[in-house]
Amino acid sequence: MSSLLNTYARMDVGFTKAKGAKLYDENDKEYIDFTSGIGVVSVGHANDRVNEVICDQLSKISHISNLYQIEPQKQCAKKIVELSGYDMACFFGNSGAEANEGAIKIARKYGEVDGETKKYKIITLEHSFHGRTITTVKATGQESMHNYFGPFPDGFVYAKTIDDIVPLIDNHTVAVMIELVQGEGGVQPLDKKKVQELAKYLKTKNILLIVDEVQTGIYRTGDFLASNVYEIEPDIITLAKGLGGGLPVGVVMTSKKEIFTPGDHGSTFGGNYISTRASLEVLNILDEYKNSGALDESIIYFSSKLEKIYKTYKNLFEDIVGFGLMRGLRVKDAQTLSDILNASVENGVMVLKAGKNTLRFLPPLTISKEEIDEGFKRLNTALSNI
Ligand SMILES: *Cc1c(COP(=O)(O)O)cnc(C)c1O
Repeated sequence: MSSLLNTYARMDVGFTKAKGAKLYDENDKEYIDFTSGIGVVSVGHANDRVNEVICDQLSKISHISNLYQIEPQKQCAKKIVELSGYDMACFFGNSGAEANEGAIKIARKYGEVDGETKKYKIITLEHSFHGRTITTVKATGQESMHNYFGPFPDGFVYAKTIDDIVPLIDNHTVAVMIELVQGEGGVQPLDKKKVQELAKYLKTKNILLIVDEVQTGIYRTGDFLASNVYEIEPDIITLAKGLGGGLPVGVVMTSKKEIFTPGDHGSTFGGNYISTRASLEVLNILDEYKNSGALDESIIYFSSKLEKIYKTYKNLFEDIVGFGLMRGLRVKDAQTLSDILNASVENGVMVLKAGKNTLRFLPPLTISKEEIDEGFKRLNTALSNI
């Protein structure tokens, strides 16, 4: 009997070392990583530059609490705001769910102080995913995740599609919270025009737009934020997965820079020297990578290989979805998807599942052409046996 609670259907493989997009298991078998740990190690495993700043920082100071000035936290926030292009301020936590908790608290406080009627309702989308805490699981528009854990905080309303959001708005609505590309829900991008129209409408109604960029943020979709790709100006944005190069970190950023006063929100570990120093280096690396044209090249190359697999295996796949390096292939049925996942691991390439029937690809953003070639070669072998 395991000493771990039974929360994950884990594959029977564990790793001992990794570099770039390559992983090695206990038997020294090599795998190409098309998952980056669910979009986390965006600059690749054991990145030299990130390792160096972490070691340097560890040897100096790692933690002192948010009661004092933390220089790398300030620098990291400054860099995030600069790269986003939005006039916002940041709060650091330790995970995506915690970032979204912060976003919800900002919205709720905004609804309290702005106007006479207390506004508190937050509209989210079906098939969304916003986290595993009691509040963020309730914000998640998947009924199956709401079993057992009630009673929940009030005020979450689910829209079936983006078209159904506006009719759900009433006097108590304070915010709409969306992922621009649903990740866990199955790599499902929202329509750009519709999002722009929604964003415009919400501004006229003084309703906040919260964009959950925990998965889409940090260049995953080709620009720093998916919000940049969609050319909108949200009021609140959350980040986490790809930011810390593997270290736990989450950020909520908002244009309501004066919303909180001391005592409203906090975190013991959030924004510590190590995670913010590592995050700052990740941002430096990816900023350079994007500016040099290497990221766009990588996206084009990965896409061409994915297209080829999609066309070769029309018997297995129904659609090709996503953009940037957040991609998916819709598989005909759940059993085939499960078979593909197992065959991939066997053949030394790691891929992910999303929703019921999507084979998901979230490779490190800095993955090399050689690693892409090798990964698709192995995937091809895996698929040819199904
Ligand atoms: C992963 C994810 C979360 C939750 O992040 P955690 O760090 O696991 O708490 C929230 N929202 C989205 C869109 C995610 O992909």
